[in-house]
Amino acid sequence: MTAAPSPAAPAKPRLVMKFGGTSVRDIERIRNAAARVKREADRGYDVAVIVSAMAGETNKLVDLVREAASAPGERAAFYDAREYDAVVASGEQVTAGLMALALQQIGVPARSWQGWQAPLITNAAHGAARIESIDTAALDRKFGEGLHAVIAGFQGVGPDGRIATLGRGGSDTSAVAFAAALGAERCDIYTDVDGVYTTDPRMVENARKLDRISYEEMLELASLGAKVLQTRSVELAMRYKVRLQVLSSFDDLPGTLVCDEGEIMESKVVSGVAFQRDEAKVTLLGVADRPGVAAAIFGPLAEAGVNVDMIVQNISEDGLTDMTFSTAEDDVDRACAVLEAAKGGIGWRAIVADRGVAKVSIVGIGMRSHAGVAQRMFAALAAEGVNIKVITTSEIKVSVLIDRKYLELAVRALHDAFELHAV
Ligand code: ADP
Ligand code: ASP
Ligand code: MG
Repeated sequence: MTAAPSPAAPAKPRLVMKFGGTSVRDIERIRNAAARVKREADRGYDVAVIVSAMAGETNKLVDLVREAASAPGERAAFYDAREYDAVVASGEQVTAGLMALALQQIGVPARSWQGWQAPLITNAAHGAARIESIDTAALDRKFGEGLHAVIAGFQGVGPDGRIATLGRGGSDTSAVAFAAALGAERCDIYTDVDGVYTTDPRMVENARKLDRISYEEMLELASLGAKVLQTRSVELAMRYKVRLQVLSSFDDLPGTLVCDEGEIMESKVVSGVAFQRDEAKVTLLGVADRPGVAAAIFGPLAEAGVNVDMIVQNISEDGLTDMTFSTAEDDVDRACAVLEAAKGGIGWRAIVADRGVAKVSIVGIGMRSHAGVAQRMFAALAAEGVNIKVITTSEIKVSVLIDRKYLELAVRALHDAFELHAV
């Protein structure tokens, strides 16, 4: 994304406030969110409110798309992503209008904007589009006239002039992008938990709220499954140095600030545990061990939009090897179909798909300077009898693939092993 700062220095400081699905679930919640916006407007901010669809609405719309694209009783593997976008973006259109009305009702001058009206321009990747740019000229003008803005999150307009959505959870990314483009003082993400925790507080009761977390760690946690922020939103915040805060829309507790590493005093070796429940492991048996075979396998998968995560190639015997990779459970049928179609070019003996796996990861910048962290993780899992199927590491994380039935056990064991409940 390119963010051209607004031309003239704005007369008033600006604030972006984003409300997620549960925070705008019904009119009562929308009123509650509107009252928070009024508080900030009364403090002297020009506010850009970014809204998600009402809780559950996007899932319903996705189900309708799948149903309409399938023959009765079947489940379509492919559908037109432009029409998907036309349907699923409608959830945010509704809440933007409702929020503007709720604001007007309490005396806060506001109007709603669709993504294409702002406009937020995206690339052509319908369904998971990336933001190219935001033109804030019209918003700047309206702020100048004393109007606050309510903007439908999750959506923009593609190069084909059609509505494009930013992938599930994309309203977070809309919020950060508008904060960068508008030169906002802060981007506040209001959600149904009061901050970023050491792990999902819905799974581990003694998970601890973090006062601050570095962009880098948050980026890893988000990309490894902590859906409290969409990964791309953290990337943008890091690039444009947006001060990002996660806080509850239901109480007035302090939230979590996502900021530079240098602003954090407390530092643990491991900061958090993230997990992805619906993973699958696919193994191609009896693949020729020759140059180009990995490209022959992963090229067609990439072209078909299958996101491959971990990859392991086994030791070769008699010139044949096994290649294992992980992907989202939803993508397994497509992956297998693609590999069947590419069999001639690859040459494999059999495909084995294990749909019942999950990924658990530990994240912490302290790992850079401490040895033995992975070993502690493996020992904690072994003590609970959890078998590890695949391992990957990077500078600040270790991830393992395990049987899904052990997911809760593994997350709790790791949370305890690294004493994440304690300050
Ligand atoms: P919203 O609808 O407001 O965007 P989401 O459901 O997308 O909210 O994200 C908030 C949820 O993220 C929480 O309800 C919580 O279950 C989950 N979550 C996962 N990991 C974490 C974490 N480490 N800290 C806080 N919340 C987390
Ligand atoms: N409503 C969209 C979703 O459920 C976008 C968002 O809430 O961030 O994925
Ligand atoms: Mg979300």
